[in-house]
Amino acid sequence: MAEFKLVIGGRAVRGDREIDVVNPATEDIIARCPAASAAQLDEAVAAAKSAFPPWAQTPVEKREALMREAAAAIRARLDELSRVLTAEQGKPLNLARMEISRACDALDYFAQQRMPRRIFRETQSELIYEQRKPLGVVAAITPWNFPVILLTNKLGPALITGNCVVAKPAPTTPLTTLRIGEICADILPSGVFNVICDDNDLGAALTGHPDVAKISFTGSTATGRKVFASAAPDLKRVTLELGGNDAALILDDADLEEAIPQIYRSAMTNSGQVCMAIKRVYAPEALYDEVCERLSEAAQSSTVGNGADPGVDMGPVQNAAQFRKLKALLGDCDKQGKLTQGETPRSNRGYFIPPTIVKDIPDNAPVVQEEQFGPVLPVLQYADLEDALARINDSIFGLGASVWSRDIARAVKLGERIDSGTVWINRHQSVDPSVPFRGARQSGMGAELGEAGMWEFTQAQVVNIMKEAAFQRRPSSSVS
Ligand code: NAD
Repeated sequence: MAEFKLVIGGRAVRGDREIDVVNPATEDIIARCPAASAAQLDEAVAAAKSAFPPWAQTPVEKREALMREAAAAIRARLDELSRVLTAEQGKPLNLARMEISRACDALDYFAQQRMPRRIFRETQSELIYEQRKPLGVVAAITPWNFPVILLTNKLGPALITGNCVVAKPAPTTPLTTLRIGEICADILPSGVFNVICDDNDLGAALTGHPDVAKISFTGSTATGRKVFASAAPDLKRVTLELGGNDAALILDDADLEEAIPQIYRSAMTNSGQVCMAIKRVYAPEALYDEVCERLSEAAQSSTVGNGADPGVDMGPVQNAAQFRKLKALLGDCDKQGKLTQGETPRSNRGYFIPPTIVKDIPDNAPVVQEEQFGPVLPVLQYADLEDALARINDSIFGLGASVWSRDIARAVKLGERIDSGTVWINRHQSVDPSVPFRGARQSGMGAELGEAGMWEFTQAQVVNIMKEAAFQRRPSSSVS
């Protein structure tokens, strides 16, 4: 693959060192990725800091135009970028294309958004309103499952509200982010959007940097805890989008013909490496065998292979560490439950895990308690709905959940009792840039997307005006 460079202060620069990027379908090294030194991290933050005042002062219409130009320039290279994304991440090419297209749509969507003043009181003598001001330098840290859309979900709201960004992708999927950084560097003013890479060793330096005003982090709950702690000394603003263990609750009146293909897709898309994937299914006793059978049939008819090959609907898992983790988990599932698995390619290269349905597994098994983040789906049985709800809510996570039923009102009533940031009824994994997404409990803090997501990149300031005429009539009574 052609050379990749860091983007610091509008320039593409070599890193201080290089790391290998591996194609998870072949285990071949596909590129050498530049990794930044601590000094280059400082340079990136300094570039963003000096770009901030003029960018914040740039009329919002101009910021919108530049963001739209950037989205169009990325879209124009959709084929090339999708191939890079599939090669580094492993996902099927059509999913890579969809991710990049949606990322461009998200940039366009946020480019159009505005944060109007909120007026609390406006009389002849007073005007009190709240305005939203940008924060400064935003550290945008992303994981390896959706490197592009998770980047633009941060970049869009950060830029339109007037902030500058230093992005840091995961070390196993840095390439698409670097290319997007280079494309944007030709359009955005220098320093507005910087990209640095690391070998999983600069995250703490970036989040702890005194000139970073805001951390927008997507990743695991374990790393999220460290990020939150690193923000404490300067009381930095933090948004944490973390892990999940979403449950699908199937009710006894669910339309399985409709529901099962959707549940399967919502569990297995991107090889199960989706924060809001369905990670456990709860089925009523009467439907348990049928649910397991239908899911098993879907697993056995999936085509697993190199995401670059036509007809493949599931790629490998993204990296060697995740592959080893899932192998160990499968070993445990095999001991404690019953597995039905699909096929993987015959070659012994590539991080392929077969789509797996796990039946008759106890609630305390790791695959039920933890976030598996792979194509392994446990199906659990319940006799009593109250008991099912209690088991679903007995988790440190609370990202999403879904309830499946022909009776929408009944499903909504039960869904509202699940402790999660989102509950879907008869669907799962439905997200939209206009709708806020957030985790309850240890699945996160703050929101991404929607108006609430944009607020996270701003400081609210109340402007409280006593108009002159009234001021002259009556001295202000201030409370200190
Ligand atoms: P991870 O936490 O290992 O890494 C995420 C990012 O954090 C990477 O860029 C990594 O280099 C960086 N990092 C590592 N140590 C750091 C530190 N001390 N300080 C700051 N940054 C540091 O996560 P991952 O394994 O790449 O991604 C998978 C996880 O992400 C899963 O748990 C998944 O559920 C979660 N995720 C959540 C959402 C959401 O919106 N809630 C979306 C996608 C993924």
